[in-house]
Parts: sequence; C-alpha cells; structure tokens
Amino acid sequence: MLGGKGSKGTIKATDVGWNFDNSYSRLPESFYARLNPAPVRSPRIVVFNQSLAESLGLNTEALADDSGAAVFAGNVIPEGAEPIAQAYAGHQFGHFTMLGDGRAILLGEQITPSLDRFDIQLKGAGQTPFSRSGDGRAALGPMLREYIISEAMHALGIPTTRSLAVVMTGEPVLRETALFGAILTRVATSHIRVGTFEYIASRSHREEIQRLADYTLSRHYPGLITADNPYLALLYAVMERQASLIARWLLVGFIHGVMNTDNMALSGETIDYGPCAFMDAYDPATVFSSIDYKGRYAYGNQPHIAQWNLARFAETLLPLLHTDQEQAVAKAGEAIETFPATFQRYWLSGMRAKLGLFTEEVGDITLIETLLKWMQTHHADYTHTFRALTLEKLPDEPLFHEAAFIDWHTHWQLRLEHQSKATKPKNSSRSLMRSSNPAIIARNHRVEEALEAAVERSDFTVMQHLLTALKTPFDHSPQHTDYHTPPTPSESAYRTFCGT
Ligand code: AMP
Ligand code: MG
Repeated sequence: MLGGKGSKGTIKATDVGWNFDNSYSRLPESFYARLNPAPVRSPRIVVFNQSLAESLGLNTEALADDSGAAVFAGNVIPEGAEPIAQAYAGHQFGHFTMLGDGRAILLGEQITPSLDRFDIQLKGAGQTPFSRSGDGRAALGPMLREYIISEAMHALGIPTTRSLAVVMTGEPVLRETALFGAILTRVATSHIRVGTFEYIASRSHREEIQRLADYTLSRHYPGLITADNPYLALLYAVMERQASLIARWLLVGFIHGVMNTDNMALSGETIDYGPCAFMDAYDPATVFSSIDYKGRYAYGNQPHIAQWNLARFAETLLPLLHTDQEQAVAKAGEAIETFPATFQRYWLSGMRAKLGLFTEEVGDITLIETLLKWMQTHHADYTHTFRALTLEKLPDEPLFHEAAFIDWHTHWQLRLEHQSKATKPKNSSRSLMRSSNPAIIARNHRVEEALEAAVERSDFTVMQHLLTALKTPFDHSPQHTDYHTPPTPSESAYRTFCGT
C-alpha cells in the first residue's frame, strides 16, 4: 500500500504499475543489508523520464504528482518492494577497499509488461551500514549530470543504466558549501559489479561465490548455464561485453573517469557516472577527474584498465574454474590475454563504420591511425571531425584545407572508391557514417550550462532543451546546430572537475 496521497488515500501498486520481484534479496543475507531509505523533508520532482516510465509499465500520470515524488524520494515504499543496500568491495585507483551501497537503496526489481527485469535504485537515499563516514546523500548537480549523460549514452545506443527521475529533497547537503540535496532513481538490468564478486570472494566462501556466479548467469547469460564450464563461459562472456562497451565509449569519445572495479557492471552496462565527459579535441591522454593525477583512467587508457579490472574478476572465479588451482589460474590467464584482440576487433569494426567502410583491407588501421594522429597534432575536435567527413561537403574551415589533412582525405576517397567498385554504392557509405558518427553529444560546456541554470537559478528549461537534442544524436539536420558546435577556447576552459 502506498500512503503518498494523503494519510487516508491509498494507491495500490497495481494502479501505478509497480510490479516488484526481489530476487537479489533472496540471496544469502551476507550479500546486502535490509533497510528503508531515510525520509526527506519536502520532495519535488525536477525531471521525470516519461518514455522510460512507460516502458517499465508505470502509470506516468499517477507518478507525476506528489505521490510520485514521495516514492522517488524514498518517503513511501511501493507495495512489493523489499529495500536493500548491496554489499560490494572494489579496487579504487588500484587499491582494494570494502565499499557497498553507501548512499543507494535498491527498492527491488520491476518486472515490465514484456517480462524484462530492471533494478529500481534510489541514489542519495540516506545512510546505510556501508556509508563509512559519508552522509548517504547526493547533491543536485551530480544527479542531474548522471541523468543527462546516461540518457545521452542510451540514445547513442550504448549499453547503460538509465535515469527515471531526479527529485530535490528540500534538504541541504554539506560539501565544501551547502548544496541542494537530490535523489536519482536509477534503472539498471542489475547492479552486480566486479566489486560484488570481489566482496564475496574476499569472504573465502566457495559456496557463496558459486551462488553469485549462478545468479549472474541466470540473470544476464542464461544461455551459458548449460555450457561445459559455465563459469569459464561467464568470464569470456563478461569480457566480450566489456570489450564491446569500451570500444563503443572510445568511438564516441567518452571518458568514464572512475573505472574502479566497483564501477564495472557484469551486465556490460555503463554505470556510475561521476567525473565523466565527452572529449572535445582529440587527445588520448584526456582526463576529466581532478583526482586522477596519473591519468589511470584517461581516454586512451580505458581498454587497458578494463583488462586490469577483468583480471580482478577472473581471480574471484578461480575456485569455480577448476578444482586444481594451477589449472584454474592457467585458464583465467589464457582468457584475460584474449581481451586486447577482442577489444581491437570491436574498435576496428566501429572505426571502419565511422569512415563508411564496409569492406576490410589491411591498410585500414594505418588510415584510421593517420587521421587520429592528425587530429591530435592539430587539436581537432573528435566529434566535429567525424561529422565533417559525414556531411556531403566538408565545412569550409581552415583546418580542412591543411596539407596533411588533404593528403589523408585523398587516401580515404581512394579507399572508398575501391570499395564501391567491389560492393555497394557510395550513398550506403554515407548512411553508414550518418548512423555511426553522432552530430550531437553531451558536450561538457553544454552540460555545465544546463546544470548551472538548474542549480544556480532553478531554471530547468536549459536542461530540458539539451535533453531533447540528445534524444536524436544522429540527426545531422541543421535543426540543432547550436549543439553541434565544439566549445570555443573559453568555453572549453570552463570544464568541470566535478566530484559526486
Ligand atoms: P562512487 O564514487 O559514487 O562510485 O562511490 C564510491 C563509494 O563511496 C560507494 O560505496 C558509494 O556508496 C560511497 N559513497 C559516495 N558518496 C557517498 C556519500 N555521500 N555517503 C556515503 N557513501 C558514499
Ligand atoms: Mg560507484
């Protein structure tokens, strides 16, 4: 029963469309802590994802008012939900730490009308047994930032957690200064992380690690349950999804910023948007996080770090891979060594698509790398360059009249002609490029502008316009020209080093 509509008014979960199952809370008690979110003073919805709500089978009208705000704030628990904070550990910047949901509460798993299962999690919902010294709360800016960027990633077709709503709590949170408190409702196919496996493995309980691995298999890789060695198959499958995911990030210029093992999901979805951003000028060393001094999580280092994280995952599976420890280590090592080639396969095929190439030739890597090197040398904007190549005619900009570029462009044109003789007409190349090279990405200066309006002036319209534009990233029409253009030098200096 929901009590959000006045003390006597009751809303059945079915009226709103909640349809919770709680499979994770049927796992051993050591996997989580049971608790409700800590209520907040005066919740108010500031952004709500209508289409996502509909696809979850929720009644958007019933959620748009105060009763929705009460649920998304954790003040009212929908019928059928069994709230928990999940336990996990993680390697943060290379160092092992016990973590857990320190400010997030999983309400339960929403079963949609098409029988898909999604975690509904409130981020910023108050202290939990895993809060350590934290207040369990979140500030408005970072929660809106996660909302914007996760939805942008989704529209780009990149696997990601989604954002259903952000509420302001009506309470301040204390960081360096007092900020508006907020809670994000996050939707994910699960919140099982590499760090979840690390936590369970650190307890040295073979049965528990097998429970978690079996659970993960049934939730995300049911086809592998009957494999000869399902746990080795799980390792390969997780690696495959991560290789594909990180390639997709690189192809759109995305930098996650905190690829700690607790921020890597077994589902293969992008998770935990903190100091993340899309790169403007191409440079593999680009870093956005102010605490990433050594560039551990720099743009170009992401495949390497993914492999490192997957090695930590493989270690947790050792007791399940083989009864003989040495053989288990050999199998895990062999698997992890395949990662760079798997990643390269996804990346190369994505890069070929960005250049309109249907066929494969040995010279393609050189063609791609020459372009990237040129971009780096000339501080060319990554997204803008690929968009320029996608247009019928190159924009009349000094950069594209530059000798080395013209030389590269001639090689590329020859390569395209070569393939069109062999296979398809030139316009299929163009349409491949149009669907592979976004015109609109969540550029940092645009995101900051939207956040500033929302946080400093309570003006949410700038963000709404941005969210609308981000829904159609491959729309190359002049309609959203404002969102196509790279930042000016002063705008790109205006970049965030935000925390969370
Ligand atoms: P993140 O950097 O968001 O991935 O968080 C890393 C860890 O710190 C997770 O265990 C979070 O739950 C925890 N954490 C982050 N912020 C807070 C906070 N304000 N209060 C309690 N725990 C937090
Ligand atoms: Mg995290």
